[in-house]
Amino acid sequence: MNVGHLATFSERTASIGRLHTLHSAVVLGGIVFAAAMFGIHTRPAGLLAAVWPANAILLGILVVRRDLPVATSYIGASIGYMLADLVSGGSALSTALLTGANLAGVATGHALYRQFPEADRRLQQPHSVLVLFLICIAASAASGMVGGIANPVLFGKGAFTGWTYWFATELANYLTILPVILSAPAISRHDIPSWLSWRTPAKYPLGPFLPAISLGASVAAALAIGGPGSVAFPLPALLWCALSYRIWTTSLLTLVFSFWILLLITDPRMAPAIDIHSQSAVLSIRLGIALVAIGPLMVASVMAARNELVLQLERLASYDHLTKVLNRRAFQQNARDRIAELGSKGRPFAALMLDIDKFKTLNDTHGHAIGDEMLSAFSEVLRSSVRDSDLVGRLGGEEFGVLLSDCSPEEGTIVAERIRSEFERRAVHIAEGCALSATVSIGMSLACQAGDFDALFSAADAALYRAKNDGRNCIRV
Ligand code: GH3
Ligand code: MG
Ligand code: MG
Repeated sequence: MNVGHLATFSERTASIGRLHTLHSAVVLGGIVFAAAMFGIHTRPAGLLAAVWPANAILLGILVVRRDLPVATSYIGASIGYMLADLVSGGSALSTALLTGANLAGVATGHALYRQFPEADRRLQQPHSVLVLFLICIAASAASGMVGGIANPVLFGKGAFTGWTYWFATELANYLTILPVILSAPAISRHDIPSWLSWRTPAKYPLGPFLPAISLGASVAAALAIGGPGSVAFPLPALLWCALSYRIWTTSLLTLVFSFWILLLITDPRMAPAIDIHSQSAVLSIRLGIALVAIGPLMVASVMAARNELVLQLERLASYDHLTKVLNRRAFQQNARDRIAELGSKGRPFAALMLDIDKFKTLNDTHGHAIGDEMLSAFSEVLRSSVRDSDLVGRLGGEEFGVLLSDCSPEEGTIVAERIRSEFERRAVHIAEGCALSATVSIGMSLACQAGDFDALFSAADAALYRAKNDGRNCIRV
């Protein structure tokens, strides 16, 4: 590439960069505008909006998408806020003050979240919810500072009242919306089936929906009975959701529950027990909902951390550290299950017993470390020679087992021969310019009906014994 090419190349990357910057500013501005319009439309007459998703959505995007250009993102977002207020009849002064209050909270939350690692930003650790809680308090307080100034200027009311109002409302919005964005799974077509799968297989067709159904029922009960305690009615159902679903689903359900209540309590017919014209009642209910939302989130993130740990432990307990294939116990257990399943459906399968030849001599001559390398090399050959659906295990020292599913005698022989010849050609580097190779003997047995693991593998073992007697480096069936 000559210098001229290099210049056009870097110019092109720079222009792509500018396009990306502009594009993200426009997209963010559009999202903020749409979210602000939604907030304005649900706002009770003469009051600030109860449901104001724009700030939490903007903060969530900025926290998750760390690649976005910061300055242009804020410019795009500011334009989004101001446009929404202007088209809804706001004055220049109100637009400036309200946008300032919105951005003060977002910028505070954004700056604080930058200090925390990815695991916290994604709510993957039990204490991540505490981090979220504290950051939301700081962001809401910052919004309240500017909002407090706006209150006497725009509505002729006290600055402190303005602060409390902004604080409570922002906190409720941040605490309910932000978790949904932070814990959202990466969007790819590949992942969609896994979102739809449940953590535990369902015994009853309605089973997986029961926690969500109970949530709906408890919200209905809260609205029917009313009173200050009613915001806590859905808590047990939310906790059940947190135990059953992944954190994203839980935060989404918590959000739906919170918005449902926030919107319905502004309708006196739905909640006659709550006086929406009493500002303290409204503030209390908003704070109550925000704080109720914390419980299920904590449970869900503890569950996420616990599930990850269980998965790690399962992996550790099932795999052989050196060769990265199943250990003896896990191989036997998996093979027994697989044989029962294949046998009951009449699908053919084959068992291979494999033993590296003269391995003791190799160990004695070249040392244990080279022996270990040979074992790893052999397991690589094994893993690359079978399909993902086949089982491979280390049964002891230099002895391995393989279970091939849906495998005819011809296919079984082809796989065994592939393993034998690949391994024979495989060389392990032992010193400068010096490599070592080894061979393997293989015994194979075949079955096509409900068989038992012990019979199948002892037949393969007997065949292996014959392979050893017939001079090694060969396959016997
Ligand atoms: P054959 O051809 O008849 O199979 O002879 P062999 O020498 O391979 O068989 P034998 O069973 O006598 O020797 C197996 C050796 O495997 C003995 C043991 O020192 C070695 N071994 C077992 N586990 C490990 C391990 O994890 N690493 C290494 N390097 N060697 C191991
Ligand atoms: Mg051996
Ligand atoms: Mg052996």
